Amino acid sequence: MANEDLFKKVISHAKEYGYIFQSSEIYDGLSAVYDYAQNGVELKKNIREYWWRSIVFMHQNIVGIDAAILMHPTTWKASGHIDAFNDPLIDNKDSKKRYRADVLIEDYCEKLNIKAQKEIIKAKKRFGESFNEEEFVSTNSRVIKYKSQQKEILERMARSLENEDLADVKLLIEELGIADPLSGSKNWTGVKQFNLMFGTKLGASAESAMDLYLRPETAQGIFVNFLNVQKTGRMKIPFGIAQTGKAFRNEIVARQFIFRMREFEQMEMQFFVKPGEEMKWYEYWKETRLNWHLSLGLGEENYRFHDHEKMAHYANAATDIEFNFPFGFKELEGIHSRTDFDLKAHEEYSGKKLQFFDHETNKNYTPYVVETSIGLDRMFLAIFSNSLKTEVLEDGSSRVVLKLPEILAPIKAAVFPLVKKDGLPEIARQIIEELKWEYNVVYDEKDAVGKRYRRQDAVGTPFCITVDHQTKEDNTVTIRHRDTMRQERIAISEISNQLKNATSFKAWLS
Ligand code: ATP
Repeated sequence: MANEDLFKKVISHAKEYGYIFQSSEIYDGLSAVYDYAQNGVELKKNIREYWWRSIVFMHQNIVGIDAAILMHPTTWKASGHIDAFNDPLIDNKDSKKRYRADVLIEDYCEKLNIKAQKEIIKAKKRFGESFNEEEFVSTNSRVIKYKSQQKEILERMARSLENEDLADVKLLIEELGIADPLSGSKNWTGVKQFNLMFGTKLGASAESAMDLYLRPETAQGIFVNFLNVQKTGRMKIPFGIAQTGKAFRNEIVARQFIFRMREFEQMEMQFFVKPGEEMKWYEYWKETRLNWHLSLGLGEENYRFHDHEKMAHYANAATDIEFNFPFGFKELEGIHSRTDFDLKAHEEYSGKKLQFFDHETNKNYTPYVVETSIGLDRMFLAIFSNSLKTEVLEDGSSRVVLKLPEILAPIKAAVFPLVKKDGLPEIARQIIEELKWEYNVVYDEKDAVGKRYRRQDAVGTPFCITVDHQTKEDNTVTIRHRDTMRQERIAISEISNQLKNATSFKAWLS
């Protein structure tokens, strides 16, 4: 399946099987904002838990916090976000309307895309049944021209933005003859930077209200609490503080489903070390985090490190763990050696010391920080897209199966009575009553068993348990394994053990 088709399938499967809905869909949605549905919320929670246990439970010197989304505004001055967390803006001199320069260019490209689509629709009508879309798209000169123009423009824009060459972004708008969509005027100002943070207000009256920001990263909530945690937890260097929670960014390009959202969740850990030891810990966390990813069994070949050559001003080493998403290798997690930049900046702006007193040397020092930062939604997308498979079976039929790692699957088991009579539903419900204390399980009695299997395959449920007439005689059931479709007969008293073995943190994480 072409990658683009796979990605479309991922998005539609996520909706159809209750994983992800567009936010406020009845009002046509809100761009790059999504809601997690009944199964999505479970998968997301399980990923978060898998991360939390591996970081907090597995390290005696790492503790967690849950800081507020709203923080004192000086936090963002100190962190550099107010001055340097920006996107490009442009104004029209005649209409006095303000636009995002990148969106104007993207909209222009979308028009090229629509032109290409029109050619395809026309050809489809002309050729009827015998139309081969893939061949047409790769050979028709007009479609090729539209697509390559589009690619060239987007690449140039990305390059100019990356190089902060805002004059070239304006030049591109002029060269393309882009007009104000409302007035038609091409009388543009220069391109300026626009801050990615969402602003809000604290306070009841307009005069006394204080300007705040929704946090664009969770890390700063950790830095400002460094000394509180160190003192109350009697933590000794090296130690870490972990946090999961929402972050908000008014992103420039937000068109890749939950890969780039305006409201998303991060799982971050800041590890405080002695200056001079940061590279040792940086290497440690690179290896530890990669091993965490590999523990889920999504395939070693789907991960790679991308070491940064050009570093942010505060970092002295940085790498991304990239994952092979349906649209190619892209950043999934960042590991950064942030030096003492953040703690020092907060010391300077707050006037409070944020240092560690070393009893061995009787000296204070500002620790260095190694950070691991992963997007929970991106991790969700990595797992979900990698797990979604269409398999051709021996009898020539096909099945859609979501081969989620068992430990992360939203529903661990579905219990079916073979038929809706003869006391079988009652036994199935009794089994549910037992399992529900430990596992998220569901009951299903609708349709033939084969159809019920397919439904659970598509949702990603690792085990289906069927109660039949033999159950009444010998207290055994059929357990069917999602990935192999193997079925075996086991005692009812054994079900819980099977689930436990398949979903044990120890087995998955060690
Ligand atoms: P990108 O280069 O893709 O914009 P970034 O380098 O800005 O990401 P960081 O600031 O390092 O990202 O944030 C850490 C992690 O948070 C990223 O590795 C990613 O998994 C996640 N993340 C960042 N921005 C978004 C977003 N808009 N939507 C979803 N996840 C995000």
